[in-house]
Amino acid sequence: MTPTHTHTTQGGRFELVSESTGAGPLEGQALVIYHDLDRDVQSVTTSADWRQHWRSIAADDCTVCLGSGTDQIKGNKSQPCGGCFGLGKVRQDGETPAGEWQVADVALGVIRRQQRIIEQRDQVLAFPEVQAALKARKEKKGKEPADWVQREQQWRESGGRGHGGRRHVGD
Ligand SMILES: [Zn+2]
Repeated sequence: MTPTHTHTTQGGRFELVSESTGAGPLEGQALVIYHDLDRDVQSVTTSADWRQHWRSIAADDCTVCLGSGTDQIKGNKSQPCGGCFGLGKVRQDGETPAGEWQVADVALGVIRRQQRIIEQRDQVLAFPEVQAALKARKEKKGKEPADWVQREQQWRESGGRGHGGRRHVGD
């Protein structure tokens, strides 16, 4: 069995078995039946919960850490995963990169993906509505801009270095 999904915060391997509409007390509820491959049990949850807490595994997600980039085997979150050298991603064919050039290739893919996200975010930030909301918020607080705005500015002023492809979320 191949894992199709992983839990966004707890990790693990899950296979989406089927989607259906509930009967009896769950009449009319959109449900998802899934297989927890690590524990080998099948469970059911609502479609809304499934969409919120699970994400699909991409072909180039590392199959050892499922994209988290941290050591899942020993469960040490401060150590990089050995299956992907901490990148969370592997080659397009799902194999661990061999040699520094292939690692560089995978890293470049991660960086490009991040760049696209940052560009999209910048576009959203530039919306007059967003600028107006930020301004209103700043005036309301009557002091320094929010922490994340300052961090964003500092990062921009530093030329964008140090952001890398590593995921900083949740660590
Ligand atoms: Zn990995």
